[in-house]
Amino acid sequence: MRIDIVTLFPEMVEPVIAHSILGRAQARGLVDIRAVDLRDYAGGRHRVTDDAPFGGGGGMVLKPEPLFAAVEALRTPGTRVVLLDPRGRRFTQAVAAELTGVPHVVLLAGRYEGVDERVAAVAADETLSIGDYVLTGGELPALVVTDAVARLLPGVLGGEGAAERESFVGGLLEPPQYTRPEVFRGVRVPRVLLSGDHARIARWRRAHALWLTWRRRPDLLAEATLDAEDRRWLERFERGEAPDEADTAPAERKRDQSHGRDPSR
Ligand code: SAM
Repeated sequence: MRIDIVTLFPEMVEPVIAHSILGRAQARGLVDIRAVDLRDYAGGRHRVTDDAPFGGGGGMVLKPEPLFAAVEALRTPGTRVVLLDPRGRRFTQAVAAELTGVPHVVLLAGRYEGVDERVAAVAADETLSIGDYVLTGGELPALVVTDAVARLLPGVLGGEGAAERESFVGGLLEPPQYTRPEVFRGVRVPRVLLSGDHARIARWRRAHALWLTWRRRPDLLAEATLDAEDRRWLERFERGEAPDEADTAPAERKRDQSHGRDPSR
């Protein structure tokens, strides 16, 4: 898969794609990620990329010509051109999975007050937003999309991810994870995780994934893939029962109560 990030600030993007898992994935030929300098597609001696908005108002807007020229130079059959835009379709894990099926993605990073609307309407195939907030530019959103997509490509994570249990896979949040030591600052790792009983561990993880999702992100449950056992757990939570109070770390209980649904409701 190839991902091009078209930006006025390639120097912001390059260090991120050169390091850690993304850097290694590129070295192994699993993904090809490039920062493309928008200024290379700007005409004239001054290579101007922005201009004042028609109709007045503060700030500058990215001009359409350089972005159209970049898209026309990069597009081949099978390319998907995505403009990063706070008004776009919400980027989720499901969208990341969908993009892994696209052989070539061109991500257009906006700047200043935004981008001439003709880019979204004509040059781009779609717009994506990484959340309901406004950042200073599209570089961080483009890197968010790139990272989330690249780590789903075959071979990129190797042994580093327990991808099937991860948050949002199957529509639930990930259950709690622990490593050594068994007791830290008085908080003990749930005993079931030390039991070696894989079936019990799997049940515990499923129950806790449901529990966390029910308390923190109940909106996800409507779209989650749930079986009869899952639904029984949810009914118990609705009646005020926790999955296994004895096995839930006190720190975890305290944290959840502060920013989740009130479990006693
Ligand atoms: N004036 C625009 C508005 O109110 O929607 C915001 C422009 S923002 C300061 C500049 C650029 O940052 C946008 O064109 C976009 O490329 C990028 N950007 C900012 N927040 C974003 C978000 N939540 N998702 C995707 N892109 C974003």
